[in-house]
Amino acid sequence: MAKKVAIIGGGASGLFSAILCAERGCEVTLFEQNNKLAKKILVSGNGRCNITNKNLSKDDYFGQNPSFVSYALEQFGFKKFQNYMESMGLLLDVKEDGRAYPLSNEAKSVARLFEERARELGVIFHLNAKINSIKEFLNTYNAVIVATGSRAASHLGGCSDGEAFAQQFGHNIIPAYPSLVQLEIDSKTVHKMAGAKVDGEVTLLVNHQKELSASGDILFTNYGVSGFAILDISQRASQALLEFAHVSIALNLLPRFSMQQLATHISNVAKKRPEYSILDILVGLLPIKIATNLLDAVGIAHDTKAGAINPKIAKKIANTITNWRFEVEDTHGFRHAEVSGGGVDVSEINPKTFESLKQKDLYFTGEVLDIVGRRGGYNFAFAWASAYLAVQNITKK
Ligand SMILES: Cc1cc2nc3c(=O)[nH]c(=O)nc-3n(C[C@H](O)[C@H](O)[C@H](O)COP(=O)(O)OP(=O)(O)OC[C@H]3O[C@@H](n4cnc5c(N)ncnc54)[C@H](O)[C@@H]3O)c2cc1C
Repeated sequence: MAKKVAIIGGGASGLFSAILCAERGCEVTLFEQNNKLAKKILVSGNGRCNITNKNLSKDDYFGQNPSFVSYALEQFGFKKFQNYMESMGLLLDVKEDGRAYPLSNEAKSVARLFEERARELGVIFHLNAKINSIKEFLNTYNAVIVATGSRAASHLGGCSDGEAFAQQFGHNIIPAYPSLVQLEIDSKTVHKMAGAKVDGEVTLLVNHQKELSASGDILFTNYGVSGFAILDISQRASQALLEFAHVSIALNLLPRFSMQQLATHISNVAKKRPEYSILDILVGLLPIKIATNLLDAVGIAHDTKAGAINPKIAKKIANTITNWRFEVEDTHGFRHAEVSGGGVDVSEINPKTFESLKQKDLYFTGEVLDIVGRRGGYNFAFAWASAYLAVQNITKK
């Protein structure tokens, strides 16, 4: 007789589990609270879906025990996933840095092919079906997979239901925090620069100690800062905020130059173009919204004539351009986060099977677990790999 498997959650790991289970002859019923499947896949990677990464390693993950991911990534790493996708007719475009996208460059392709394949295999879908308790499920089904994701992006189905299910079976929960998320800064200067963007470098300071840096887009907004560089430091920033640490950032708006080079440049232009104002000099380097607010921050009038710019002033400006510090108030919250750290404690989950060590036939896959990846396809990679191992164990039993 076919094994009956219930899957809670029709996102990345739930949908992938459903396909793999049905391919191996199980009778699969999937419950999804939203009115459609795979909402996060559809918006992922700015609509392009950074579906995995060629270079997967435990070092790209965070949690109480990041090594938990090692076995899963070994068993269902990049090559196996790529081959599997090819068998479904979905080819990958692998970028030089290892990020992989569907060749169509559209997340829609992934969601559509997954759903088609699951329907073709006879997976029974219950949409608009929010599950409140899974206790009874274990009496009806041979196995239950909790693939409910995390609290991130509540408008796409993000919630903490999976944690509540785990708690029903005595599981420990590691406190959740938003990750890959924008940062809130309570500074009028920052808010006035909303809309301005630089290709810069951000350094995170926790309790005034430098912890890590990231390069890329930095976008000022009316609540704080966003952009890829900010997302890349946000996991640690968010975790530190959760621990009530003092969190600040140092922005380098022009990392291609040293502070000294910038000071010299400002002095040289000032000498060559005495008719210029200091603002004229800065707009040659930075977006005007940033230039004006930076001058306000260092207390120099915009119309200060170039002739009045001595080396001390040039250095002060250059120093702010390369090391502009702001205190971080908070993250922009779960609603705006791509993922969330924390979740079901992995010390109570078998890393080879993803079965609960507290309850036989109960499985947890994907982001509901206390594992969160960097930006770059790592979060999906874990969703696929954890689904694969859970299904292997269910169908082997
Ligand atoms: C804007 C955005 C962009 C992203 N881009 C990328 C990217 O490019 N690359 C990458 O690797 N990762 C990306 N991510 C992260 C990635 O989407 C998640 O890590 C991944 O979807 C997690 O898969 P999951 O199956 O664990 O959870 P989800 O995909 O979130 O699926 C969980 C599902 O469970 C459902 N559910 C929850 N509770 C219940 C309940 N009680 N009853 C019924 N259904 C329930 C939810 O509605 C949801 O559909 C992005 C996330 C966001 C928000």
